[in-house]
Amino acid sequence: MPEHEDEALLLDLLNSTPVADGRQFDLLATDEEARGWARDHGGAGTAGEVTHLRRARDRLQEVVRGTAGPETLAPLLTDLRLRPEVTQHGIAWHLDVTDDRRPASRALLTWARIQEELPGRLRPCANDECRRFLLDRSRPNTARWCSMKACGNRLKARRHYRRAHGQADATARKGV
Ligand SMILES: [Zn+2]
Repeated sequence: MPEHEDEALLLDLLNSTPVADGRQFDLLATDEEARGWARDHGGAGTAGEVTHLRRARDRLQEVVRGTAGPETLAPLLTDLRLRPEVTQHGIAWHLDVTDDRRPASRALLTWARIQEELPGRLRPCANDECRRFLLDRSRPNTARWCSMKACGNRLKARRHYRRAHGQADATARKGV
């Protein structure tokens, strides 16, 4: 599985409990939705995959938010093996794990790789009302929102409103 697909799987999994209009949704809430979600992310859509994906999602969200330590992931990694295969180009690593655990394991290993290669760049959105996460690959590493459209602009608009409002008050006080 290419790396960018694994990253999409991890981010989509972390972002599967979005908040919209002040309400939290869970894209893996029903078995039917969750199976479809697993299929869309390279799985077979089995009940077992869904169980492991939900468990990995809940723990990964806590770890990335910093409310739990990485050691809480240990039980999810039991018996997971990477098997090397020598090819003409070098070594290909195969994930040796039961099919049911494959999608969740891919998300967990991708989290580990990002920790190592891009430390600190996977983080929660700075908008408190948002439950999404972002992976900042930009050089300055200053992205704060899951998306400028969804959260950045909204916060900016609110700040702008406050500034404009504050100015209006000051003008009123001066009696201009
Ligand atoms: Zn956000």
